[in-house]
Amino acid sequence: MDIRQKLVILGEAAKYDASCASSGSGRQGKDGFGKACMAGICHTWAADGRCISLLKVLLSNTCIYDCAYCVNRVSNDVPRARFTPRELADITVEFYRRNYIEGLFLSSAVMKNPDYTCEQMLEVLRILRNEYRYFGYIHVKLIPGSSQEMTDRIGLYADRVSVNVELPTRASLKLLAPSKQPEHILSSMDRIKQAKEQNAEERRHFKNAPLFAPAGQSTQMIVGATPDSDRKLLALSGALYKTYQMKRVYFSAYMPVGNALMLPGPERPVPLRREHRLYQADWLMRFYGFSTEEITEGTNDNLDLDLDPKSAWAIRHPEQFPVEVNTAPYETILRVPGIGVISAKRIIAARRLGAVRLEHLRKLGVVMKRAQYFVTAMGKFGGRAMPGNPMMREILTDSPSVQAQLSLFTDETALPEPEAFRRLRQAAGGELL
Ligand code: SF4
Repeated sequence: MDIRQKLVILGEAAKYDASCASSGSGRQGKDGFGKACMAGICHTWAADGRCISLLKVLLSNTCIYDCAYCVNRVSNDVPRARFTPRELADITVEFYRRNYIEGLFLSSAVMKNPDYTCEQMLEVLRILRNEYRYFGYIHVKLIPGSSQEMTDRIGLYADRVSVNVELPTRASLKLLAPSKQPEHILSSMDRIKQAKEQNAEERRHFKNAPLFAPAGQSTQMIVGATPDSDRKLLALSGALYKTYQMKRVYFSAYMPVGNALMLPGPERPVPLRREHRLYQADWLMRFYGFSTEEITEGTNDNLDLDLDPKSAWAIRHPEQFPVEVNTAPYETILRVPGIGVISAKRIIAARRLGAVRLEHLRKLGVVMKRAQYFVTAMGKFGGRAMPGNPMMREILTDSPSVQAQLSLFTDETALPEPEAFRRLRQAAGGELL
């Protein structure tokens, strides 16, 4: 098989991994080429979700495991391929020099065992960094169950490392990915966190000590392959940010791959809007001071697909509105639908100079289409209806053009429940990882 054929197979096999955005690394080299920018590598997303400015590829798609949701599982009948470490290092360098890519996202199926797989990936990194003196961005997906030593060595070469948590509960993982141990996933994350802390300490004493994964760690959860609710996904995501100092938790709507009979088929797709709502909720938890409970209270544990989670929360809490933008604290202003972090800061800065009026808000970046129902400025209210109005949900629901997307999906309630859903519903408890 020539390199081109391998690239087609292994690039295709890697496209299901969503966790490859890059930022936060400032690696530079003196006597080589390439540079990772703190501001993040510019990248774009192809229609199928592929990030096309990083070379996103697997070292091998021949896996010994049989995770039901994965195209590379041992029981799936797909073409298999494997790069040698030097082949992959050469391709990366050649693509970088031709300006096709700005970095590498390297993952792999589990060959032989986790440590052997990590060793092979480590060799790619060694060739790139030590032989070719390549200092561009590298993100490596670690294999749960590999040794601490492997994590430590890979972290010294890579800008970002990640371990996929995949599913939020032990029951889901046991049913769909029985070879994966929750303890292995969590201990790899813990090791990355500890190694980063040790590295920070070393660099306090020795300025030239090499950086360990300067862009931190991230993870990915699959959405919709199991009946796990958004509440569970968000609860785990919140815990991961807190416990392991994750830079990012990615959500990836399950895409039917092969004929995994236990899982939703193409006739029962996971609405991409669900993934979008989870990202919005994740953003609210990280930057707007919302808790998981606040976001999911009063729902059936899943986010409203028609409303963004902040608007949905505001509708459930009419008693908190309207907010007077001239006197309310920053944290309260942040909770107004249509006001983001930047516009909230601008409002605080502007009101130091004088009274903020309704007509100023749009210029400060406020999306008045939503915010008008939830704010007053100098006591003046500009909305067509008050926050407690029963029509508020309808008013704030996404526009019909966005709604129309839903018509692409089949009516889920009319379809039979997949086998995995039925078995998971019967499983005792839903203990988070
Ligand atoms: S270990 Fe990774 S590559 Fe292998 S089947 Fe599971 S998810 Fe797929």
